[in-house]
Amino acid sequence: TYFTDLGLAEPLVRALETKGYSDPTPIQRQAIPALLEGRDLLGIAQTGTGKTAAFSLPSLHRLAANPKARSNASCRMLVLSPTRELAAQIAENMRGYAKYLNLSVQCVFGGIPVGKQARALVPGCDILVATPGRLLDLIDQRALTLRNVEIFVLDEADQMMDLGFIVPLKRVANMLPKERQSLFFSATMPKAIAELGKQFISNPVRVEV
Ligand code: AMP
Repeated sequence: TYFTDLGLAEPLVRALETKGYSDPTPIQRQAIPALLEGRDLLGIAQTGTGKTAAFSLPSLHRLAANPKARSNASCRMLVLSPTRELAAQIAENMRGYAKYLNLSVQCVFGGIPVGKQARALVPGCDILVATPGRLLDLIDQRALTLRNVEIFVLDEADQMMDLGFIVPLKRVANMLPKERQSLFFSATMPKAIAELGKQFISNPVRVEV
């Protein structure tokens, strides 16, 4: 299987070629076709499996296939990550995959002043990668609204739980539009995580690698 066989648009395949990726990893082979159809996904996968590309490529494909003007202080795709390092890495990867598409990626996390991040969100962006606490700060400051989110990704759900992000996550979930695509990833799936997942995803395709 090659990336073109999975149904990804040419600008994405070209970006992958410049990175030197020719073969999709198992999670990419399993997840990409279902995500292109707009299905929700429950992914049990560790970092290093190619998970980031598995959720990024079909999402970028769908956003590009349905272009929309940027709207102030809003985003079309929200990716939540437990740590600033992971968030920054996801944003950097997504910028690479989106390099031949007209889609913008922003990243916000705690530990640095909020003002500059708030200003960067004023014109709106297509994809926002965020840690939960800083995301809620920006929403509370009216620097961001989640009303235009079409695709929601919750990454590393087990780490989110370990870091005490459950209450913030539930607040975020309540602000998301009901009509959306949701992806939920965790390295492990104990009962508490599966229960959390049920609050975000409906009738998901399950992928385990
Ligand atoms: P991730 O699990 O998303 O953190 O990805 C692990 C690493 O594999 C990252 O450095 C990716 O850039 C790289 N990668 C992702 N997909 C592929 C692929 N299909 N072929 C080769 N490398 C890949």
